[in-house]
Amino acid sequence: MAAVNAVQRTGAPRLEGKVAVITGGASGIGEATVRLFTAEGAKVIIADIKDTDGEKLAQEVGGFEVARFIHCDVTKEDNIAAAVDLAVSAFGGLDIMYNNAGIAGPWTAIDETPAEELDQIYMVNFRGMFLGVKHAARIMKSRQKGSIINTASVAAHTGCGPQAYTALKHGIIGLTRTAAFELRHYQVRVNAVSPGGVITNLWDTVPGGRRLIEALATEKPDLRSPVTSAENVAKAVLFLASDDAGYVSGQSIIVDGSHTVAPETPAWNNDAGIP
Ligand code: NAD
Repeated sequence: MAAVNAVQRTGAPRLEGKVAVITGGASGIGEATVRLFTAEGAKVIIADIKDTDGEKLAQEVGGFEVARFIHCDVTKEDNIAAAVDLAVSAFGGLDIMYNNAGIAGPWTAIDETPAEELDQIYMVNFRGMFLGVKHAARIMKSRQKGSIINTASVAAHTGCGPQAYTALKHGIIGLTRTAAFELRHYQVRVNAVSPGGVITNLWDTVPGGRRLIEALATEKPDLRSPVTSAENVAKAVLFLASDDAGYVSGQSIIVDGSHTVAPETPAWNNDAGIP
């Protein structure tokens, strides 16, 4: 995959003095968010299982004083607890928790989906995000402030994706809403970002996935394209993380150029060759 371009900051830094943990921060949407957050003045813990990519990214965005990588498998609660605790010990607190790590999971007909593959995607895409919310709340409740963002998907708002992925992303909306309700009493906001198609490494794990997503992308990645850039998703995450979204909680921002509300392309399942 081509390297995500460096993000140019314009105007006053929007995350000056803030500390963020970004899971799945070594690649794709997470990587673009690490670049944008640090360009906007935040200090960032990159939490991922890709050690080499994560360490390299931490160096690229400013090194030890700005970003640190921690090996964090989100399926393991002690790993998530350690990532959150590192934000506090290294940078003095936790203002933003971006639960973003995710996998595609099984992309097969429902009657051919192995239960073990369902269990695996549940562990990463739901349990991992639940634990991220849990451990962020542990820190943010006592500080009486904070912003938690979970990566859902357009698959959380439609029924056209693979079953396990789609069902679990719907679950992320429920998690986001109930956590927003519970944590508003502590001045902690919880929101989701729901991207449409983004060309990232995730698609390489889907049979024919890269071909599918590249075929859906139009030549110009503007509103006519159902596929957008990781940077465009990161900009929505930045809004939710910043004080500009100070009264926004329990919401899902769909970043898909309107293609969910008015689809022009054939159903994704058909393109993927699922019967
Ligand atoms: P990506 O593969 O580029 O990035 C995902 C990152 O998560 C990787 O760095 C990977 O190492 C990490 N990861 C995977 N399992 C992990 C684990 N157990 N512990 C810690 N880190 C782990 O893919 P992406 O497209 O940037 O995906 C980011 C999020 O965006 C996911 O939640 C995905 O479901 C969601 N999303 C992607 C698209 C898309 O079209 N790419 C669309 C909607 C939503």
